[in-house]
Amino acid sequence: MAMNRRSFIKGSSAFAFSASIMGCSNSSDDDIVEEPPVVEPPIEVPPEESIPDGVYHTTCPRNCGDRCSLMVTTKDGVAVSITGDTTHPVTAGTPCVKGHSYLQSVYSPDRIQQPMKRVGPRGPGATFEPISWEDAYAQIASRLNEIINTDGGNAIVPYSYSGYSGISAGTGANRFFNRIAGRNLQRNICASAGYSGMSSILGEFNGPSPEDYANTKCFVSWGTNEQATNIHHLKFINEARDNGAKVLVVNPARTPLASQADIWLQPTPGTDATLVVGISKIIIEENLHDTAFIAANTQDYDALVARLAEFTHEEIELETGVSKSEYQEFARAYAQADCAMIRIGYGIQRTLNGGRMVKAIPTIAALTGNIGKVGAGVVYLNVMSGGLFDWGYSGASHLTPEGAERGTVSINEIGKFLLPEDYQHENGLVGPISYGEPSDPIKAMIVYSSNPMAIAPNTDLIEKGLMRDDLFLVGIDLFQTDTMDYVDYLLPTSSYMEQSNLIDSYQCYYAKHSAKAIMQLHDSKPDTVIFNELAKAMGFDDVEFDESIDDILRNTWKGNISYDELLVQKWDSPIVDYPYRKDLVFPTTSGKIEFKDTSNKYFDSEKFNPVIDTGTPESNEYDDKGMTDAEKAREFRLLSPAHAKLSNSQWANVKYIAGTFPQHTVYVHPSDAGAKGISDGDEVIVTASRYGSADVQIQYVARVEEMTPKGTVFIWKNAWKKLNENGSNTSVNQLTNCDLTDMNYGSTFHATRVDIALA
Ligand code: SF4
Repeated sequence: MAMNRRSFIKGSSAFAFSASIMGCSNSSDDDIVEEPPVVEPPIEVPPEESIPDGVYHTTCPRNCGDRCSLMVTTKDGVAVSITGDTTHPVTAGTPCVKGHSYLQSVYSPDRIQQPMKRVGPRGPGATFEPISWEDAYAQIASRLNEIINTDGGNAIVPYSYSGYSGISAGTGANRFFNRIAGRNLQRNICASAGYSGMSSILGEFNGPSPEDYANTKCFVSWGTNEQATNIHHLKFINEARDNGAKVLVVNPARTPLASQADIWLQPTPGTDATLVVGISKIIIEENLHDTAFIAANTQDYDALVARLAEFTHEEIELETGVSKSEYQEFARAYAQADCAMIRIGYGIQRTLNGGRMVKAIPTIAALTGNIGKVGAGVVYLNVMSGGLFDWGYSGASHLTPEGAERGTVSINEIGKFLLPEDYQHENGLVGPISYGEPSDPIKAMIVYSSNPMAIAPNTDLIEKGLMRDDLFLVGIDLFQTDTMDYVDYLLPTSSYMEQSNLIDSYQCYYAKHSAKAIMQLHDSKPDTVIFNELAKAMGFDDVEFDESIDDILRNTWKGNISYDELLVQKWDSPIVDYPYRKDLVFPTTSGKIEFKDTSNKYFDSEKFNPVIDTGTPESNEYDDKGMTDAEKAREFRLLSPAHAKLSNSQWANVKYIAGTFPQHTVYVHPSDAGAKGISDGDEVIVTASRYGSADVQIQYVARVEEMTPKGTVFIWKNAWKKLNENGSNTSVNQLTNCDLTDMNYGSTFHATRVDIALA
């Protein structure tokens, strides 16, 4: 019998079960054990056994640097409440609204409840029918083996990004793709241009812990929105403010912190490097720089001074849209503070000049000696806690057959590399492309822990690829997302509460254990189990595919305490000097902060200025790192950053979240709205020029307010197309392009120009 997934769920008894759980968890504290037993250490229970009721320490595995410690209380095997761990220094008892809504997500009636096979056409409205795990594995294995025999494992691509993180989420897949010698996916969608930008001047991209914000006398939030992406950082910022610190914000968007800041600079998007030139000029002109620090710890100061002299304040004001008096006030507040801390966000570098802008910002810290002391430094991200895991063990790269040729594709160019072999590109190339070069054809893709039809740039191009008849697609997910409508087989994964995990943070200095708090729901399995069982179905008998999740975690752990101690302590931290970089020895060639970088390690110093490069996506200086003429002709820059209630596209479908904020809204500055005859609440059409397709038009509701500067419009990122309440089945990443950043092949979501008009 064929049925679509929704009608299947409605007809299942599991719906009634789940609905009752939803009601229980929402409405009645009476159902919660008053003093539940605390289980220490968390008991690891084989899947076939039950899990005792208690309070379990779990860790939020989403793509969020806070990586909260979440205490899950269970009763009769059901999670009945979730709260933040009061003993963790960062979580401090409070998850964000997404963490609070985990019960609604885990027990959602919309979860994929058993393996499904597509029986109708691909795309929105696709029809699936149930299939047993055994049959699904056998059919998938048969098709993948066929592809390997004819085209090699290199024709099979893993696609995962920004879903569940941690060892249990990735191990099975990594071992599987290593064993079949699948194509490597370079997952550089998030922060890679910034890695290179930071490294170009400081030699590294790690920095102080966010907990040190509390000690600063001047906190600078540069190109980030803490309320959306690191809500726990606000606690430390507020602590600093309570102790007399000033809070400075640089952001074209009016973030909640910008609204409360002592100084908010609102530059035209893409002009931050020029703004750094202005601030640096003021610091030197007013003798606010630290000459002793510069002499001892920096290189090429003269080159910096010469570069700054190339700009007048009038030019800087015109380019950035920020007046001299505004950035003068900023420069004084920053340079005159006893210690100052800069947090650089990831949004700023998701544009064609992203790496160059991030490279420029630490200049002001180096000029004022705000590095290597308490409450000072530059924070981009911190990956040191990942050093407590043996990634080589978990990934088992030794499984790759000797001599296997494995190519690499960029996750940002998925739209280009999934295209048919005879696809004619605008630049004359034919077939799949990655990194601007022809790429070997892809015959199969397995999507897990991700939703490319919502989160990746240029989703119309991706859809073209996903519609290929000869592309074999397997999807593993909790929910039938926009992407899952295209797969041939749909496999239900287990939620994070249904499996143990080890998770590192990329902001704070903590690596954590996450306990399995409840049994697997429905007929789901954790990703690692799915990939292990699929490997066996394909005929691989390596012992690595027999290892249980708990054994993998134990064998992967290499922290400062034993794994058994970790189960009691719940987290461990890497050993990092405090204050960060206190020895003032930098991992650059010279060992000093390098104002001028001609190493050609991070960018082409012949093409870009090696001191501070002020080129923008709209400028005409660099043909391959600028916009096309068609894009430049569009009237507005589009920014599409994160909303506090989503983690990429996750939670968009959770009832506790959906409908509580305007996901499908475009924010327009009042003066721009006036010029276009647009009023608040009007239906509008947003148009962009996109690679590989005719102009794209998306329907939105206009919100008229000063969210961004004049000439810039703003749409929250990564809503699902199928959830667009105006029924247009559209979403913002149909507008964004899949070009790569100036450094390290990052994404360029914010280098998008659009027109806007009444519908
Ligand atoms: S999304 Fe981030 S802030 Fe929210 S619960 Fe998870 S780790 Fe914490």
